[in-house]
Amino acid sequence: MSTSPAALRAAVNVDVDGLYLYDRVHGHQGGAGNSAEFDAKSHDARVWTLGVPRFLDLFARVGAKATFFVVAQDLASAEVRAVLADVVAAGHEVGNHSLTHPYNLSRLSGEQLREELHKARAILQDATGQAVAGFRAPGYVLSADLIHAVIDAGHTYDSSRFPSPAYQGAKALIIQLYRLRGRPSGSIAEAPAVWLGPRTPYRWTLPSGQNIVELPIGTLPGLRLPLIATSVIAGGEALRLATRPLLLNADWLNFECHAIDLLDHTGDQLPARFLAQPDQRVPLQAKWPVMLRTLEDLTATHDVATLAAWAEHV
Ligand SMILES: [Zn+2]
Repeated sequence: MSTSPAALRAAVNVDVDGLYLYDRVHGHQGGAGNSAEFDAKSHDARVWTLGVPRFLDLFARVGAKATFFVVAQDLASAEVRAVLADVVAAGHEVGNHSLTHPYNLSRLSGEQLREELHKARAILQDATGQAVAGFRAPGYVLSADLIHAVIDAGHTYDSSRFPSPAYQGAKALIIQLYRLRGRPSGSIAEAPAVWLGPRTPYRWTLPSGQNIVELPIGTLPGLRLPLIATSVIAGGEALRLATRPLLLNADWLNFECHAIDLLDHTGDQLPARFLAQPDQRVPLQAKWPVMLRTLEDLTATHDVATLAAWAEHV
C-alpha cells in the first residue's frame, strides 16, 4: 500500500453468505433457509468448501489481500473452520457479518442486537486469533441502534453503506414484486437518503458524538452504477469493457463479492431454485475470466489493501 495521497484506493471483499441465506432472501420456506430446519453444524457449506478456496486462488493470482465477511454461526462446522484457517494463513482479513445474518438486524434492539454483534466478534476473534476490526450488515441495511451496537462491540469501521440508486431501486422493486406474488422476501429496502450518501470513505459522526469509519461499497463515479461481482458477472465482458474507463479512474472502489459468485451451478450441482439469481445462470468457466480481468485491472491501477488497512487512514 502506497502512502501517496493521490493514489487510487481499492479493496476487495467477500461476503461468505451460506446457501441457506439465499433461501431466506428468495422466500423458499421449504429450503434450508427456514431457520427452524437450519443446523449450523451440518448445513450445506459449499460456499465455504468450494467458493472460498476459488477466491483464495483468484486473489493469489493477482496478489491482492482481501477481507472476508463471515457469519459467525457457520464456524460451528469443522469443515468451515478448516477453510477459515486457510483464509487467515493466506494473510487475508476476517470481518464480522453478524452471528446469524438476520435480514431484519436493523430492526432488532437490546440483547438480541448485542448478541449478534458482540458474540459474533468474540467467536471470530477466537477462531482467527486476530482482532476483528470491521462489520458489514446483512443486506447492507443499518439503523441508529445497529451502528451504535457496531461501535460498542469494538469495531473500528463499518462497510455497509451502498450508495447506488440503481442497486437500491432495483432491490426495492424486487422486494415489492415478491410481496405481490405472495412469497415475502426476507430482505428490507434501504431508505432513499442512503442512496446518494458519500461514495468514498469518511469518518461518520453520530448524533450521540460517537464516530466510526465508513467504507462504502463500490459504485462507479457519475451514475453510481454498482461495481460489485454480481453486476460484473451478470453484465459479462461487454459491461466490463464499457465501464472499464470509469473503473480505471475511480478514486475509491470497494469491490464486493459473495462466495456463491465462484460456484458453478451445474458443475457443483446446486439445487434448481438457486437459478432465481441471474448470475447463477452464468457458468464458472464464463465468470472466472471476467472476475480475473476485473481484478487485474484493479490491481494494476489502484492500491489494493484490506478494509482494515484503509480504515486506519481515514
Ligand atoms: Zn450477507
